[in-house]
Amino acid sequence: MKKYQLFIGGKWTDSLSGETFETINPGTGEVHALVSQGGEEDLNHAVKAARKAFESGPWATMSPSDRGRLLYKAAQKMWVNSDFLAEVESKDNGLPINETKHIALPSTIDVLEFYAGLANKVQGDTLASPHNRFNYTLKEPLGVIGAIVPWNFPLMLTMWKLAPALAAGNTIVIKPAKETSTSILELAKLFQEVGIPDGVINIVPGPGSTVGSALASHPDVDKIAFTGSTDTGRLIMQAATKNLKPVSLELGGKSPNIVFDDATLEDAVNGAMFGIYFAQGQVCASGSRLFVQESIYDKFMDLFASKVQSIRVGNPLEVTTQMGPQVSAQQLKTIEKYVAVGLEEGAELVTGGQRGNKNGYYFTPTIFGDVTNEMTIAREEIFGPVVSVIRFKDEEDALRQANDTIYGLASGIWTNDLKRAHRMARGIQAGTVYVNTYSMLDSTTPFGGMKQSGFGRELGVQAMDMYTHSKSVWIDLAEKGLNWYGG
Ligand code: NAD
Repeated sequence: MKKYQLFIGGKWTDSLSGETFETINPGTGEVHALVSQGGEEDLNHAVKAARKAFESGPWATMSPSDRGRLLYKAAQKMWVNSDFLAEVESKDNGLPINETKHIALPSTIDVLEFYAGLANKVQGDTLASPHNRFNYTLKEPLGVIGAIVPWNFPLMLTMWKLAPALAAGNTIVIKPAKETSTSILELAKLFQEVGIPDGVINIVPGPGSTVGSALASHPDVDKIAFTGSTDTGRLIMQAATKNLKPVSLELGGKSPNIVFDDATLEDAVNGAMFGIYFAQGQVCASGSRLFVQESIYDKFMDLFASKVQSIRVGNPLEVTTQMGPQVSAQQLKTIEKYVAVGLEEGAELVTGGQRGNKNGYYFTPTIFGDVTNEMTIAREEIFGPVVSVIRFKDEEDALRQANDTIYGLASGIWTNDLKRAHRMARGIQAGTVYVNTYSMLDSTTPFGGMKQSGFGRELGVQAMDMYTHSKSVWIDLAEKGLNWYGG
């Protein structure tokens, strides 16, 4: 069985306690690797190493162009090893290998290439100063970044933080989710091989309640970038008050995907499926509240249900698999609990609702019909392959129900009416609006939430602002200096 150590200051090392934890392949339920379990002292060492690399050594003095070149080299190394990385990741989190290889990995590497290109484009401003003064801003890195990431897309969500942070000249300490540390540790090996200096990237796997919380409250960490649940986001924000470090939070969602009666039916059905069943529903932006206009409800549901029943659920490492297992036994139990609550509260179980009949953590793609927006399964994030289908009357009703949620991450609109699409895009309270598509991502396009889905925008040029600050510089050009008090 493969063993993984912590990565601190460029060295692979066992945790000080010597403890390890098992990481399980959700496709089989079997242990596939042993990982060194970090603790608070290990985390302190990692922060020290990151601080040292930020303040002295090659990273601190490297020109932005050279930094960008190194990151680009790391991206090329990732392309060469992308099949391997995809397999490690699919073994860890159960994402079907087709989705890891053809969607998650290429988009992750694209993010790295995008920010590699931005490394030498970080610019301050020359300001409109009076003739006897010169003002400009320096755009500087923040220092040591703490990144805490979930298990659903470990490499991708790490890269959303790592790439802009490093491109701007910061160093980083990463705390992976316990379920999925191995692909991130493999990534560090590749970065080391291309010559990213020691201490620039540090990785401390371990529990969120100890390592994650120590990172969030650490007095020598300058920013926390977090992706995970809304409840944990609250704890991170509280922990960060210790030294008032800035925080960016990418949290949960209960995103509305709205189908109007003038939509192209087949496209809307396909989009609704991709919106909820991609990655087994373990997507923060998944379209888990599916609003269907009442005039087409029955027609839509007939086609939707028959297509959903044909999804091939199976071993994530087989190329024919369309939906893999949930990430853990715990997650499977949570989904079962929500299915029971849905039935209790009177929703109609149209299809699915059961575990798969093999080893591993499989669940059948599930549709609940006749859901109301007040039911628990329409209000709480299930983070599994369960969609709640809700009827609506007209545009006003759709908008009101869609916005009636604590979340605001993503949304979808299916219509062929151009004016309606734009009206809805303005009205919906969400960080992303998809029109006649769903779950699109691009390195160039900012991603993030409103309301309790968090704040801050990852991806795009804008994300560089989360990893830099502006320093104002004042230079007196007057022949005689300031002498307010005379004499
Ligand atoms: P989680 O909040 O349980 O864990 C996320 C990370 O936080 C893990 O690394 C975990 O170990 C760590 N953590 C847990 N408790 C902590 C604490 N007290 N202090 C510091 N760190 C702690 O989330 P999860 O179950 O791993 O992931 C699923 C959640 O993530 C869902 O709610 C999903 O919507 C959300 N998510 C959001 C986005 C987004 O971009 N908005 C993307 C993916 C996932």
